[in-house]
Amino acid sequence: MPAFLYRLAIACCLIASARAEPPPEVSFSIVKTARVAVAEALLVPGGSFSKKIDSNFSAFLIRHGENTLLFDTGMGSQIAAQYQQDMPPWWRPFFKYESPVRPARQQLQEAGMALPGLVVLSHSHWDHAGGVQDFPDARVAVAAAELAAIRQPSSGPGGTWASQIAGAGIRWETLDFQARPHRGYARSLDLFGDGRVVVVPIPGHTPGSVGLFLKVSSGREFFFVGDVAWTVAAIRAGAPKFWAAGRLVDGHAQQTLDSVAQVRTLMQQLPELVVVPAHDSAVQDALGYFPQWLR
Ligand SMILES: [Zn+2]
Repeated sequence: MPAFLYRLAIACCLIASARAEPPPEVSFSIVKTARVAVAEALLVPGGSFSKKIDSNFSAFLIRHGENTLLFDTGMGSQIAAQYQQDMPPWWRPFFKYESPVRPARQQLQEAGMALPGLVVLSHSHWDHAGGVQDFPDARVAVAAAELAAIRQPSSGPGGTWASQIAGAGIRWETLDFQARPHRGYARSLDLFGDGRVVVVPIPGHTPGSVGLFLKVSSGREFFFVGDVAWTVAAIRAGAPKFWAAGRLVDGHAQQTLDSVAQVRTLMQQLPELVVVPAHDSAVQDALGYFPQWLR
């Protein structure tokens, strides 16, 4: 074959392969690490005090092509010792978890999956950061405002626990938000540059709370909102958390309500958007759990 034809064939081949490259598969799976039964009235406005419903402690495993990241970690393998050290005894009747605990790392390993290279925390409270130490090789990304809380840990239900996040080996990094509006949020960080996995600040519950928008391969869109509210029912009602609990765990009550209102407005504008609070068992039961994947 003459040289120029050979080069032409190679060039065509390259163009064809560039065109044929499929978009990365984007999917997620809910890794339920533990749960606790609580009075419905604590989680759902107008709910019953005698009826109990589950509050989940979940991590969200997200796949983008070859990359895997974990949004929140739920309860980790050291939770018993962490709880013993940092949850004062007088709070234990009100803020607890039930056995069995199935840490995310354990579930991934049992399934033969590689561990994620990146952990993003919605915020650093005990029931979200409990598994950080289980992923020593991962980068752990938080908002800059959250890193300030992490540098000054405190105990209790609304604290950032030294037992979980003070380890010298944790590879912290900050989420570098850009002035690029996304879904009504003024600042955002597009993790892969294709609009599929986008983190936004939703302050209030803690100064550095973040949410994560995820568009999976089918086009379905999800919004993981951490603890801005404990249930979608509460967001729909625009309701604050049960007063006693909200006062304990929400860093800034009005800012939290503003963040709830923003999610609520978005739900009205985008009825097909699936909002997933970290603890909402009703929403998560309907979506299914690891090793089931939503694509
Ligand atoms: Zn929280």
